[in-house]
Amino acid sequence: MIRKLLRRVFRREPARPVEPAVIPPAQHGIQRESISPAARRVCHVLQEAGFKAFVVGGAVRDLIAGIKPKDFDVATDATPEQVRELFRRSRIIGRRFRIVHVMSGPETIEVSTFRASQNEDAQTDEHGRILADNVWGSQQEDATRRDFTVNALYYDPNAETVVDYHHGVGDLHQKTLRMIGDPNVRYREDPVRMLRAVRLASKLGLIIDPVARTPIRELAQLLENVPPARLFDEMLKLLTSGHAVECLRQLREQGLHHGLLPLLDVILEQPMGERFVWLALENTDDRVRAGKPISPGFLFATLLWHEVLADWDARKARGEASQAALFDAMSAVLDQQAEKLAITRKISADIKEIWALQPRFDRRSGKAPFRLIEQPRFRAGYDFLRLRAQSGELPLEVAEWWDHFADAEPEARGEMLMSESDPATKKRRRRRRKPGAGPADAPAGE
Ligand code: ATP
Ligand code: MG
Repeated sequence: MIRKLLRRVFRREPARPVEPAVIPPAQHGIQRESISPAARRVCHVLQEAGFKAFVVGGAVRDLIAGIKPKDFDVATDATPEQVRELFRRSRIIGRRFRIVHVMSGPETIEVSTFRASQNEDAQTDEHGRILADNVWGSQQEDATRRDFTVNALYYDPNAETVVDYHHGVGDLHQKTLRMIGDPNVRYREDPVRMLRAVRLASKLGLIIDPVARTPIRELAQLLENVPPARLFDEMLKLLTSGHAVECLRQLREQGLHHGLLPLLDVILEQPMGERFVWLALENTDDRVRAGKPISPGFLFATLLWHEVLADWDARKARGEASQAALFDAMSAVLDQQAEKLAITRKISADIKEIWALQPRFDRRSGKAPFRLIEQPRFRAGYDFLRLRAQSGELPLEVAEWWDHFADAEPEARGEMLMSESDPATKKRRRRRRKPGAGPADAPAGE
């Protein structure tokens, strides 16, 4: 009742038509060729059929900022059905947010229909979170319902102009992340926007405008109402952005980590594991920036490892056998995360595999080391071990031993083994390594 009344009192004005700024190439600097062929083709086909079509959102923002876009999205005034009819290889997906995937060569372009901004009829939960968003609107309305001004830019590959309703190009040049509309309302509509603010500011080196920054501390708890699967997606984006270290630093600064996402609490407030986690994130950032693949399983395994260690130790102290205690600790830690963060089954399985391999690195005698290096996941397990050693949890010598053992000629391996009776004593022998192999490589996880 009260919510309805409030919404009616504060309801947004119906959009008055506003002339957008139409920015020429000399000012926005985007080269048509930097738009993927598929995105250009999709815009062309839609425009030929009489519709409006623009490359929109993150890709335009990134190109103006001089960053190579991850992917290209297209916005149009054609409905999903009309888009579907124009492209043979396409399908309509999504419910809360219906869009069309157009396949073109190896690329998939997401095509979304201009949406109306939210009004009092919008379906929301009791905190104001929007549950459905499929009301079509004008391009101007579409711009207004986007989150930040730098994300509300429309590039027309034909005219080579950028259509800008909210001073996004100017904000980008001035290095400001500014919310469209009232940040208090916009965060309530979708609390994930708080995480997006931090991620985009870190990625693009922008300062979050104080008006958008201030309410975050107070509204942070709204993240509790976000479905765990969505939160997991966003956390994964954040951690694999190539700017994970900066993102987490900012999350802490904005108070977004506290008591909300168990994962972040773990990461940032656990002195023992801090060095380990920052090392892991630095490594991940380096890999992403170098264009190397990263494995989410490896990443989450590192983030949660010190939780597992603590629980494992506690169980052993209570008299549980080491192996059983480890497996129980693994499950307990993952179960606790699952309440808020829907780590997928596949990733959970990867995480467990990496953890379960760790005690096997303690055995450096007999047949065990030979079996371990034959494991398909040996490399991920070894990279993990090396991070443990680098962070001071284990002597570096242990990681080096495994590195040499794995690289040694098969006949030389026998000589490296330790005696069964004294596992701490390493047989000294000359190192034999393949050139180029070794600690200079970042942990891969794959
Ligand atoms: P990146 O692709 O680098 O992760 P992005 O901004 O492109 O960043 P997407 O999730 O691909 O993020 O979203 C595409 C566009 O959709 C955004 O640029 C923005 O205009 C709009 N958008 C995405 N999420 C939201 C949201 N939660 N609220 C409002 N608009 C959003
Ligand atoms: Mg995007």
